[in-house]
Amino acid sequence: MSVVREKYGAVNSTVMLRDDLEPGRNYYRVKSFSGLPSEFPLSDGTSESLYMYKFPQDNGLLWQIIRQGNVFSVRDLQRDPRFDTAWNKWHLDILQSDIWCPLIKNGEVLGILTLGEKQDGQQISEDEFPFLQELASIATTNVDSTLKYEKNQTILRNIQALYDVNQQLANVNDFKRLCIETLSTAVEAVSAQKGNLMLLNKNTGKLEIRVVWGNIPKNVRDDINNGITATKSFNLGEGIAGQCAAQRTPIRKNDKNSIEQVGKNVVYCICCVPLMRGDDIEGVIVMTNKVRSNDDDVLVLDRIGRFTEEDVSLCQGLADQAAVNLHKSRLYNKSITDQMTGLYNTRHFEDTLKLQLEHVRATGEPLSLAVSDIDHFKKFNDTHGHKAGDAVLQTVARIMESCIRPGSSDLVFRYGGEEFCMLMPNTEPEEAAELMETYRKKVEAQIVNHEGEDMSVTVSIGISCGPKDSLDQKGIFEKADECLYVAKDSGRNQVNTYFQGLKLRYGEKVDVTLLKQVIQNNEN
Ligand code: GH3
Ligand code: MG
Ligand code: MG
Repeated sequence: MSVVREKYGAVNSTVMLRDDLEPGRNYYRVKSFSGLPSEFPLSDGTSESLYMYKFPQDNGLLWQIIRQGNVFSVRDLQRDPRFDTAWNKWHLDILQSDIWCPLIKNGEVLGILTLGEKQDGQQISEDEFPFLQELASIATTNVDSTLKYEKNQTILRNIQALYDVNQQLANVNDFKRLCIETLSTAVEAVSAQKGNLMLLNKNTGKLEIRVVWGNIPKNVRDDINNGITATKSFNLGEGIAGQCAAQRTPIRKNDKNSIEQVGKNVVYCICCVPLMRGDDIEGVIVMTNKVRSNDDDVLVLDRIGRFTEEDVSLCQGLADQAAVNLHKSRLYNKSITDQMTGLYNTRHFEDTLKLQLEHVRATGEPLSLAVSDIDHFKKFNDTHGHKAGDAVLQTVARIMESCIRPGSSDLVFRYGGEEFCMLMPNTEPEEAAELMETYRKKVEAQIVNHEGEDMSVTVSIGISCGPKDSLDQKGIFEKADECLYVAKDSGRNQVNTYFQGLKLRYGEKVDVTLLKQVIQNNEN
């Protein structure tokens, strides 16, 4: 552009390139310009960046000439447009051009170089056209190979992103973390401003935002990702996310005027891919707006950025992986959950205890274990029936769950029939005993109504603590169990804690002399 401009002293110039970003339509859009205002007026009185100026290929007279491939003038010597129809329809006066040089490669119009009049107000003369033609053909080759190079770079980068995500996905236990991993990779790879991952809630039939990522204040982002802030949900067919889910195909929109604006931030471009498992829709991944690095290397909103076909295929690849992982994670969660109570099952208790004891060995941090058993439950079943027993089990499970301390890493398990366990990392046995006393009282006070009958149960609890009482799974469980049996033997409905071979009942005065003696003996 600048070579031509300097040689001929043209007051302005543009390079328009084919823009295949609007699926199914061949537009030509300003890719570069000089000597023109950076904005052009729209019919509604507002203005738009010149980079957004575009006009489509059609079968009109202007395009017949362009396709012939020769340099030609779009205005006659009186400066009147030679192609009135196209001129008026596409507001070609915005380009303030005289001469057009089609950039044609293998019979395809890659773009058009436009030139304005000369500084002396004259038109570039027709004698110069052959030279312009030569320049245009060199430019075409360069443009073509640059575009191909860029495309290959993108594809390579995308393959890398997919590979990286695959590497991260060895562990499917934490679905939320995986979703964040996937989403953040996608947001970065396609230079999106924001991305979110929505899952279809099979009960409500609505798409719900599970994870958001991108240029969003961290506290807002974290609150959404931790389920603290509720976000808007979408019906199938509603909005672009809903349409994508309903049609089960990717949607890409790069013209803000064709995007329904729902939130308070303007959406300039959007890309949405479905998360499918077989033929079932599980959710969608949505990307909005593009960012670019400014001169200070800070990412800023790119109002003229658009999502490409490659962006869509990358997002789709990531969505496909997310769908597989969602499924794996559901299977995994099922395999560690007790169906009746919804608590973690015995298997997960064994695995977790093993892992946590490794941590205890490494750090010396206390880990308390409480084992709870319902008192006289056999009799309860015999008296009220098995169904009533089940209802009580579920209630007691909920009560134990309700004792989990906010912000703690407490975990609750169903260990066998009517035995529940709680693992309390970084907790001294005294604290654990306090917590279990609260639990015991809550159970005692709870009336369970089953088929019109009011019932209640009590629980006995044994507590032990690593590394103090033991450092292996078997040992620590046995110590808690011993306490539990002492609790049963001493009248039930009580909390007993292991202490150097003693089993101390919560709330009962300790014989200090005996205690000192035990400590002394153990030290010897
Ligand atoms: P103790 O106070 O000594 O614990 O007396 P207990 O009768 O509770 O004795 P134990 O703990 O040995 O008995 C467990 C009973 O729990 C046996 C069984 O009838 C009942 N049970 C175990 N699993 C279930 C279950 O899933 N549903 C129901 N309804 N009962 C169960
Ligand atoms: Mg039992
Ligand atoms: Mg029992």
